[in-house]
Amino acid sequence: MASPTPRPDASVRVRFCPSPTGNPHVGLIRTALFNWAFARHHGGTLVFRIEDTDAARDSEESYQQLLDSLRWLGLDWDEGPEVGGPHAPYRQSQRMEIYADVARRLKETGHAYDCYCTPEELETRRAAARAAGRPSGYDGHCRTLTAEQVAGYLAEGRPAIVRFRMPDQPVTFTDLVRGELTFTPENVPDFGIVRANGAPLYTLVNPVDDALMEITHVLRGEDLLSSTPRQIALYQALIELGVAKDVPEFGHLPYVMGEGNKKLSKRDPEASLNLYRERGFLPEGLLNYLSLLGWSYAADQDVFTMAEMVSRFEIADVNANPARFDLKKAEAINGDHIRRLTPEAFAAACLPWLRAPYAPWAPEAFDEAAWQAIAPYAQTRVTVLADITANVDFLFLDRPVADEASWAKAMKEGSADLLRTARERLAAADWSSAEALKEAVLAAGEVHGLKLGKAQAPVRVAVTGRTVGLPLFESLQILGRDRTLERIDAALAALGS
Ligand code: GLU
Ligand code: ZN
Repeated sequence: MASPTPRPDASVRVRFCPSPTGNPHVGLIRTALFNWAFARHHGGTLVFRIEDTDAARDSEESYQQLLDSLRWLGLDWDEGPEVGGPHAPYRQSQRMEIYADVARRLKETGHAYDCYCTPEELETRRAAARAAGRPSGYDGHCRTLTAEQVAGYLAEGRPAIVRFRMPDQPVTFTDLVRGELTFTPENVPDFGIVRANGAPLYTLVNPVDDALMEITHVLRGEDLLSSTPRQIALYQALIELGVAKDVPEFGHLPYVMGEGNKKLSKRDPEASLNLYRERGFLPEGLLNYLSLLGWSYAADQDVFTMAEMVSRFEIADVNANPARFDLKKAEAINGDHIRRLTPEAFAAACLPWLRAPYAPWAPEAFDEAAWQAIAPYAQTRVTVLADITANVDFLFLDRPVADEASWAKAMKEGSADLLRTARERLAAADWSSAEALKEAVLAAGEVHGLKLGKAQAPVRVAVTGRTVGLPLFESLQILGRDRTLERIDAALAALGS
């Protein structure tokens, strides 16, 4: 569905406004990415705002992680923490006077009122409404209190929250992803905007900041759809107060479904961004995959750069249907990005996994030259960088990993004879040529009536510990003659000959 963007492009102002709680998760990053791509596509502005008004749940560690994650991904922002901007500060915890002032003005103009209902009273009336088949949201009890009623409540020492007065007409808006939506008043009761202790709530601070920061498009997850009619009504009040200019446009990004077609929850382990970092996703590979959660680049092309994404990204092309998170596909796409790296970039990108704490060998066992030599063969084989260690550990461990299944598969009757012949031929071969090593094993196989595939399996397991791996003869060459022969000897000894 195409929807016009009424404002000139460069005036596009979008925001990414997470709460710093817990670890960044893929749903959050997808939201950041779509906002970023939209801003970059239009040459507009991405505002990064921290919604840290819940001191009990927010943490500095989580805040630092958010910044670090966006930096790692290369999702840059134009206004926000560290870069500043005309609407600073960008942390809501530093903007409390602003919210208190707006709440006061909303009350003065009748857009909000004090609500003295206790939780018990609210619950009793809610239950009664439910039993009578009436809508069970807030019933407007405190909308029209008399001066005496208020005095009575105050005399009782009752605390009051501030509630926003919803208009009595339906709220209609055109969602950029979902089209026209209407919410009737029964479904959107008056809602709290300030707690009894004076703490402003998300329902207030989020639209107030969107207004003050002149946000033109609110692109966020579908889970926030129900707050949109409230925010639009609040916006209209803010326009009256002169705090807001226009109601922004809204677009709600589809849910992301995980295993078993359940909504991916931020608590699911596979939702954690850190997991993808640790597994060795490239930022471009991960972002490429996340772009496909509700959007597509082209019918016949799944792999693209962020520059390509930016050139085509339009919010009107986002699909309203839930997107399915598919780890296999994410890895396959990441693998494509790994193969696109230059050999030098690939070798460098793997280094963290080849060193402590990821590498299973002693730090001094790592041999940079051997790594540089083997890296090009590994580049086509891994889909995530963390897989590199298993592919090259034979080079850096004292002896090959002991993998019983591989051993059982490769070491059959006659394997010792084959290995003994292969050892002789390899010992006599020209080690400056991988081709010559192949000829040596081929010739050994011929002696025992084995084709190359069958002949090389015991050699591979003797030397690398595994039945599958990188091209064998290049691997042997990089490992070196002495170490290769030593390992074949050790295998022969283990086979009892
Ligand atoms: N801080 C809110 C959240 O993380 C922002 C929601 C919004 O985009 O309006 O859920
Ligand atoms: Zn009330």
